[in-house]
Amino acid sequence: MTADIIDGKAIAADLRARVAAGVARFEADTGETPGLAVVLVGDDPASQVYVRNKGRATKNAGMRSIEHRLPASASEAEVVALVRALNADNAVDGILVQMPLPGGVDANRVINEIDPAKDVDGLTETSAGRLLLGKAGLVPCTPQGCIILAKSVRTRLDGAHAVVLGRSILVGKPLSLLLLAENCTVTMAHSRTKDLAAICRSADILCAAVGRPALVKGDWVKEGAIVLDVGINRVGAGEASKLVGDVDFDAAKDRAAAITPVPGGVGPMTIACLLRNTLIAAARRRGLAQPEI
Ligand code: NAP
Repeated sequence: MTADIIDGKAIAADLRARVAAGVARFEADTGETPGLAVVLVGDDPASQVYVRNKGRATKNAGMRSIEHRLPASASEAEVVALVRALNADNAVDGILVQMPLPGGVDANRVINEIDPAKDVDGLTETSAGRLLLGKAGLVPCTPQGCIILAKSVRTRLDGAHAVVLGRSILVGKPLSLLLLAENCTVTMAHSRTKDLAAICRSADILCAAVGRPALVKGDWVKEGAIVLDVGINRVGAGEASKLVGDVDFDAAKDRAAAITPVPGGVGPMTIACLLRNTLIAAARRRGLAQPEI
């Protein structure tokens, strides 16, 4: 079997276009434009690139991008004060605080200051609790992207055995809950799991969010499985360096029915889902029905 390659770039572009159409409808209905505020503290080069990309994607979707930069020397109180000001600003529908924050600033404290109605990263305790309880809320972007990709292969995931490698708050845990909400039978695996290979071999949907290059070997993949590789790992040095996932792609593609490449699989979905969350937040904050996107 040779797997279909799940084209995350194309699926993300399609989602961004649907968000842009939703933004146009929102503007026609309300006379307002959704706004996403991004907070960048310090001068981490990778974070600067991420923030720039998010700002560009926000504008391309027809929304307002509001960037706030604080110096690396900013105190926790200053960051919290900025988040509170954005909570109070009616023109701001979504707030994203770019991680990592400089030492001395407690990321948990800052995240939990975000108004859950504007929590487009879905990382506050309230958003996490709503997800656990199966209540409507804003869902973390990368796991949401994974579900969209899985459903691009199989519209109904009911009854599938999903194995999620990794139990982080950012990816593994929320992804497991979203798969459960899709009526999958979910196994969560992590660094203390025994016989990872056997557990992976039983997966109809295998999701790897570990951060270990090619941890998942080809013969860990069940024939006909859907493989979602969240991992982004840089291997090699200098000009020869490249990005690889957590799955041995070349070996796994001979057994899977469908697989995401790295790069170009799960990665592009994250920003697209951030834009989707921002439009959803803008609609909900005004008491409008959730946009069909
Ligand atoms: P993380 O917080 O470091 O969590 C890694 C998880 O993997 C932990 O739960 C850990 O288990 C588990 N783990 C580590 N080594 C393992 C092993 N040998 N066998 C089984 N499980 C193991 O990482 P993360 O934030 O979830 O990110 C995971 C990967 O996804 C990274 O490569 C990251 O760059 C990537 N990522 C991509 C996107 C995107 O595509 N946009 C977004 C976010 C993250 P323990 O809990 O037992 O320590």
